Amino acid sequence: MIRIGILLSLCTLLCCRSLSAQQCHTPEISLLSAEEDAFNEYVLRFVQDGGPADTSLQIIPTVVHIIMRNAADSMSLARVQSQIHASNLDLRKRNADTARIRAPFKAVAADCQIQLCLATRKPDGNNFAGVLWHSYPDFDPADMSAIRTATQLDPDRYLNVWVQPGQEGGSAVFPWEKTASHDGFTLGSLVFGTFGTDLQPGFNEGGIFTHELGHYLGLYHTFHGGFAYLGECDRLHDADIGDLCADTPLDWDMPLSTDQCDDGTRFCSTGDSSVITQSENFMHYNRDSCVQMFSLDQRARMRACTDSARALLVSASNLNFTGAACLPLVSLPEITPAENWTVYPNPAGDIVYIHYPAKMSLLSVRLLDLQGREIRQWQGNISEAGLQDIPAGIYILRIQGKDFTDSRKLVRR
Ligand SMILES: [Zn+2]
Repeated sequence: MIRIGILLSLCTLLCCRSLSAQQCHTPEISLLSAEEDAFNEYVLRFVQDGGPADTSLQIIPTVVHIIMRNAADSMSLARVQSQIHASNLDLRKRNADTARIRAPFKAVAADCQIQLCLATRKPDGNNFAGVLWHSYPDFDPADMSAIRTATQLDPDRYLNVWVQPGQEGGSAVFPWEKTASHDGFTLGSLVFGTFGTDLQPGFNEGGIFTHELGHYLGLYHTFHGGFAYLGECDRLHDADIGDLCADTPLDWDMPLSTDQCDDGTRFCSTGDSSVITQSENFMHYNRDSCVQMFSLDQRARMRACTDSARALLVSASNLNFTGAACLPLVSLPEITPAENWTVYPNPAGDIVYIHYPAKMSLLSVRLLDLQGREIRQWQGNISEAGLQDIPAGIYILRIQGKDFTDSRKLVRR
């Protein structure tokens, strides 16, 4: 009972998967608001009307905000792309580890036909790469709410994701909670992307981003409300309780910190029997290597969301407005050390900073115009470059090392 009591109190506080539970803030148990109730009613109608049969691809224009206390907090575009790519594979059931989905659940593992694509146009029509770097030298996590409001792009038109420095875990806004100034989700930098020496052990496959995206599109945890039905194995597939998905068995356990996969074994309150719950679901708490699937009923909830609360977001006119640019689902190129670098701010003023891993050694940095003509050259391991006399415009910043060369588009304000 003590254990149950602890779990109940934790569960009221926590939401997302994380090794460090206190990092999670999306409420787990809530008294149903009118808006939440209406969303769930909409899902029922959507399913009854045959909505899940729609196989059209739903594209979500996405902007990623990198919050930086200093240069070391910056994230390269390649790392952002690695995260978007990993979550797209998860959404499309193209993740490499689908073979690990256990037999009882293989038939309900879903291709959600939803993809994230980085926006290439801001609301003012200016082009960008879908990533915004924000400098907050005095950053305090308590400021995140104000930072989100100050930096968001129109949340009806963009999925806004904020990468919070030095944090793990995440926190999402359910579709029925969204307001004009509060939407999207945050993700800790220590669990963001699929490469980087700062990634937390067990969280280097982008799974928490996928989990938060599930909340953003209306999914509960697979153990949502499960404590009210402790051990009641006869209600495993009741779609009216728990996470409201019949194909994610009712679950009443929520492992918070484990070095191994939770295998989903739960004991029934009657007899000596046990059952297997869907601990490989992205909406369970488990390490990245232990989660592999969304279910068909979860797909229906997400599709009902893109059909209602987030309909403008995925509309054809909005894809045009935001210039959503999709990465191919085939494997991204291998990340080389040369790609693990970034320039910021971008657009830049009089100075642009160049951040790259300590193990990279630069021979030169060159500023080229769009015709490839050299405008300026700097020698050696520089970390900043002066642009005082460079006219406003779009340039290419090219770094050259002993055995690599790589480029970034640089906008001079
Ligand atoms: Zn969660």
